[in-house]
Order: sequence, then C-alpha cells, then structure tokens
Amino acid sequence: MNAPYGGRLVDRLVKGGRAEKLREEARELQPIRLSAEEELDLDKIAIGAYSPLEGFMTREELESVISKGELPSGLPWTIPILLDARREEVRFSEGDEVRLEGETFGALGVMRVEEIYEVDQKEVAQRVYGTLDPRHPNVRRLLTKGEGVAIGGRVELIERPAFNGVVGPYELTPSEVRALISERGWRTVVGFQCRNPPHLGHEYIQRLAMELYDGLLIHPVTGLLKEDDYPPEAIIEAYEALVGNYYPKGKVLLASLGIEMRYAGPKAAVFLAIIRRNYGCTHFVVGRDLAGVGGFYDPYEAQQVLRSMRDELGIEPICVKEVYYCGKCGWGVTENTCTHVGWSYNVTTISQTYIRSVLRRGGTVPAGVLREEVLEVLRKYYQRN
Ligand SMILES: [Zn+2]
Repeated sequence: MNAPYGGRLVDRLVKGGRAEKLREEARELQPIRLSAEEELDLDKIAIGAYSPLEGFMTREELESVISKGELPSGLPWTIPILLDARREEVRFSEGDEVRLEGETFGALGVMRVEEIYEVDQKEVAQRVYGTLDPRHPNVRRLLTKGEGVAIGGRVELIERPAFNGVVGPYELTPSEVRALISERGWRTVVGFQCRNPPHLGHEYIQRLAMELYDGLLIHPVTGLLKEDDYPPEAIIEAYEALVGNYYPKGKVLLASLGIEMRYAGPKAAVFLAIIRRNYGCTHFVVGRDLAGVGGFYDPYEAQQVLRSMRDELGIEPICVKEVYYCGKCGWGVTENTCTHVGWSYNVTTISQTYIRSVLRRGGTVPAGVLREEVLEVLRKYYQRN
C-alpha cells in the first residue's frame, strides 16, 4: 500500500461529541451556500482524498497551481480547488468562522476564512483547461460564474454529503479503503479510474491488473459528470453485476468517488492519480483519453505526463492502448495483442456512443462486449428515461 501524497492523510472530518458541539456552534455563524461541486470538494478535502490540501485554496495556492502546476510547497498539483462567491453575498471578514452548507447533498462544515480574493474565472478556465470554448463542459460552467471572489481557508466537516441509496454505501473514505487493503494484505494496488459502466475494454484491463498485482480498486467517479453520461447509480449497479458475477472477491474492491469530473486531459490525469495514491494505490491505469472530452486533448498525452512524473507523484502509471473487440480473435484486443487492429473489418471500436445507440434501438451487442448482467442493468436505466 502506498503512503499518502505529501506523507500524511488529512483528516478534517469531525466525529462524535466534538461534532455535536461544532454543529451547535455552527448555527450561530454566517452561512456560505455551497454548489454541488464545492460540496463534493469540501468532503474530499476533509476525508483526505485531496491530501495534502486542508482547505479551499488561497490566492497564493491558486496562482501557484495555475502558473506552475504545483502547490507553494513545490508538490505537483494541477487542479484549483476553489470556493466561489459573489461579492455581495460576502457578509463576513477574513479571520471569521463561517458555516458551510451544501444545498444538493446536505453537507455541513465550518471554515476559518483566511482570505477573500478576486478571481477571474476566464483566466482559470484558460490556464487549467487550455480553452475558452463553451463546448467544454467545465469551461462552460466556469464562464457562467463570471466575476466573483474566492474564499480560502481550512475546513472542518461535520456532516458528509448524503448520496443516494445505491451510491452511498460505496462512498468510502481513504482511511476505510486503506483499512480494507491492509486487511487483505495487498502490497500492490491498482487504481482504476472510470466514469462509465464496464464493457469488454474495461474488463480486459482489469483482468490484466488482477493477474499481475495483488489487488484492484475499481473507483468510478460518481459525482457530477457530463449531461450525456450515465447516472451514477447505473455505473455502480453495472459494476456490482460484473464484480459480483465474475471477479474473485479477494482481488477487487469497488468504491465510488463523488467529485466533479474535471475533463482537463493530462492535468486531470495528474489530479486523479494523486487522489488514488491517497486511497492507497501504488499503480494507476491510464487508458486512452483518460480525462479528456470532445477532442480537446491529445488522447495519449496523459500517459506521457504521468510517466514523466512517476517519481514526484509516487504512483506508477500502467499505460494501456485502446481496447477493441476483434471478431477474428473472438476477444478484447489492443494493437499490442492482435495483428488485425488497424486494417481488418473484424475489429470493432467499443465506444459508449455505440453501446448507447444499441440500447436505444433495443438491439444487441456482440457477445462478450457487454456482460449479459451489465446489459440488463443498462436496459433498466434506458427504459426508465
Ligand atoms: Zn484479432
């Protein structure tokens, strides 16, 4: 199991009697209403998923992250974690304590306001996502925020966000995942990032990981995805179907990661790798276009970046090529494992768009591309919509 990023797992989740006392005190404080994205970030800071961050970023931290790709300490960090507000909503001063209220998932926290500062969201969008194109989902969100301020400071969490009954039980903290890893005695743990229900492409890589390493952490992002992504509960139920029916219990853990998906290509890949290190992973699977969207990023650049940063980040990337279904081989393949890729009509690209179009038509996919049990789950969600 890997040590946390920065050496120590941050724990700002208040429990027991102290939580009750803090909840009482928080009633008297000025409130800040958190967007769903911010609420999920508050949770991930507090449970240590974003270690070594202990709060929302100050101006110095933001500047350092967007200009140098590192925290002021020099540790690499690529994605700003900000708490935004409109100037007129700010009825408190630096040094005050405020109450953090999540409106979507009901998170409750307290923050010591260290700094209130102007933020140009346009600049943040350009520096982090490399574009101001409103077709980019994260950029579109930042641009609609416009001018405003950010509030930096350390946080404490009294109440974690409440996820729905399907996702909730899987929303484990890094300490909980680490305890399970240690119970199983895994020394090498492969983190698997995903945001879609599993098809043959995922299964091919997951089986390789289970073959070569002690354990596999399947860790789908289930917070806020793009409009056309599957709902989080569909992803979880589909994975329950695959893991429950096909994978050996001693080799795999399924947990969810409720965050806003940042589609920032290589920068998001660094961020996602750091998070998995905090959950105890020693290795991290980097497939084609790991955290890209709509052709904005070179699909294999994330692999180069994570390879070049493996020592600084302290997590080993497992770089894999795109997986296809080959009718001739009758199996999942990549250009490294099948001679037909690139020229044969037998080779099919397995895309979510393709699977969705089949689901919509009510047709069927080639045997093996989707497990029957997974297909059943997805049909259920498609009939519902
Ligand atoms: Zn083949």
